[in-house]
Amino acid sequence: MEDCIERILISQEELERKVKELGERITRDYWGKELRVVGILRGAFIFMADLVRNIRVPLSVDFMSISSYGEESESSGIVRILKDLDKPITHKHVLVVEDIVDTGLTLKHLKEVLATREPASLRVCALLNKEERRIVRDLEIDYLGFNIPNQFVVGYGLDFAERYRNYPFIFVLKPEYYRGEARVPEKE
Ligand code: 5GP
Repeated sequence: MEDCIERILISQEELERKVKELGERITRDYWGKELRVVGILRGAFIFMADLVRNIRVPLSVDFMSISSYGEESESSGIVRILKDLDKPITHKHVLVVEDIVDTGLTLKHLKEVLATREPASLRVCALLNKEERRIVRDLEIDYLGFNIPNQFVVGYGLDFAERYRNYPFIFVLKPEYYRGEARVPEKE
């Protein structure tokens, strides 16, 4: 299973420490309030599961699935909602949980869509940020885990072609795994 790892970028211990720290900050900021935590599927599911266990205010969760890339590998800036929230967010304190902000186009459009639903407040928590790749300049990430270099990463919920989400750390794949030359054997 480890053959595909070029380099571990963020270890399991570092992730645990950071998620705890983010949870404590969020708890302080929302003390006395109730939160609606909105996870963006699928990449944020592991981060969100760990994060909510470190938040000590009453909260409920909801999920949204969006696609910003269509068939392209580059962000188009058009957010397609594949699965909308189950519950309204009007007058709720909403915290959006994202896996990674790259160009920022997905998050910008997502924030615009959610803002029209008139939440009491709307903030964003992202695990990773690639500042170098940013196209959208005025995008605020209220709670950020790590700034990372401009490299494609997987693990801890993030995928390449739906694989690698189950690795408990963030890593860079060996190049041959992108090119499809070295495939992980399928178990039937
Ligand atoms: P943006 O609109 O900010 O360019 O795109 C953000 C989305 O692109 C993320 O939610 C994620 O799905 C995908 N993405 C961007 N960079 C990476 C990366 O390094 N690894 C993975 N697995 N997905 C990425």
